[in-house]
Amino acid sequence: MNPTNAGTTTPTVTRHIDPAYDVVVVGARAAGAATAMLLARRGVRVLAVDRSAYGTDTLSTHSISIAGVYLLERWGVLDALRDAGTPVSRAVIFNYGDERVRIDIPARGGVDGLYNPRRTLLDATLVDHAVDAGAHVRHGVSVAALTRDADGRVDGVELDVAGERRRVAARFVVGADGVRSKVAAQVGARTTYEEPTGAGDIYSYWTGLPSDLMENFYEPGRAAGIIPTNDGAAAVWVGLSPETFREVARGNLAPTYHALIGTFPQLVDRLRDATRVGGYRGFPGTPGYLRGPTAQDGRSSATPATSRIPSARTGSPTPSSARRSSPTRSPTPSSAGWTRSPPSGDTRRHATSWRRR
Ligand SMILES: Cc1cc2nc3c(=O)[nH]c(=O)nc-3n(C[C@H](O)[C@H](O)[C@H](O)COP(=O)(O)OP(=O)(O)OC[C@H]3O[C@@H](n4cnc5c(N)ncnc54)[C@H](O)[C@@H]3O)c2cc1C
Repeated sequence: MNPTNAGTTTPTVTRHIDPAYDVVVVGARAAGAATAMLLARRGVRVLAVDRSAYGTDTLSTHSISIAGVYLLERWGVLDALRDAGTPVSRAVIFNYGDERVRIDIPARGGVDGLYNPRRTLLDATLVDHAVDAGAHVRHGVSVAALTRDADGRVDGVELDVAGERRRVAARFVVGADGVRSKVAAQVGARTTYEEPTGAGDIYSYWTGLPSDLMENFYEPGRAAGIIPTNDGAAAVWVGLSPETFREVARGNLAPTYHALIGTFPQLVDRLRDATRVGGYRGFPGTPGYLRGPTAQDGRSSATPATSRIPSARTGSPTPSSARRSSPTRSPTPSSAGWTRSPPSGDTRRHATSWRRR
């Protein structure tokens, strides 16, 4: 899939859906498509549905933690991302005021650095691998509700397929349906961890930057960074507090973005010969969280996928499964992954600040 063709092809749109599966996965992006792929590879009969179109974009600045890159390699997905021209970064530079820290990414276990694919490419590639493994993946299909048996156990979903309601039975339902998960809401999934802070974000794409330059800039209360991605472009982001986003940036993305970039002289220098392409995307910031797999009533067969939302600018939360299976640990919690600034204070100290509920 060529990321520049995102959304123009919809190979998984089809009306054929079986009446019953072992597992129905709600949402077919990073979490859902990967789950469907792994289940299908184990011979599980799986249906993944997504109401959005195949290969479409979503909010993200594309940075994948090193543990995630190892998983993509282990799953046999990384080569497809490389073949699509995703650039590799072999070092990440952190600028804390005048202090400059360079973290080199050692080549190990088939991974030669960090990859930051556009979501138009990553999500579609995972879907392609899920389909290759035998999963049914259907786009343009919504889950309207979970269904339950006489004991109250989730036993399937009610789909909206082009305006037509269709029930599909399932032994298990997985909620990979994002930050406003209907599955999590319907099963009453508990929040088990919550970040103390969130941060807003504005980003845009720039061409003309080195394809391997991954660099972050931190000052109390604000941050910025460069993340190279596909099509010869880099996502250049600025981080700000939710309060500042609410008071200044909302409805005012472009001037806020450029004003914040202007407060980082080194970043201004990097961008001197670069060209901004496309529009501006903004996110107001909300605290990140993890949800537990258990339902309140203990009877549900539905489970929300581990949730990570970007507002957690304090670090790069890695699901425990990814930590366990990674052949190596990143040098610092924030060194090789998706890292943002907290609204205020020392970024490095905040990087591991998780609290348990
Ligand atoms: C500004 C910003 C920057 C970010 N930057 C990064 C980054 O650099 N690195 C990083 O790792 N993460 C980043 N994130 C976070 C990242 O985007 C999310 O963690 C990630 O998208 C979650 O993936 P997911 O597959 O769980 O869910 P999503 O990508 O949210 O996908 C959920 C899917 O479920 C579908 N869906 C929802 N409800 C239904 C339904 N009822 N029926 C059918 N389908 C449904 C939706 O259409 C959607 O396609 C960023 C987020 C934001 C907002």
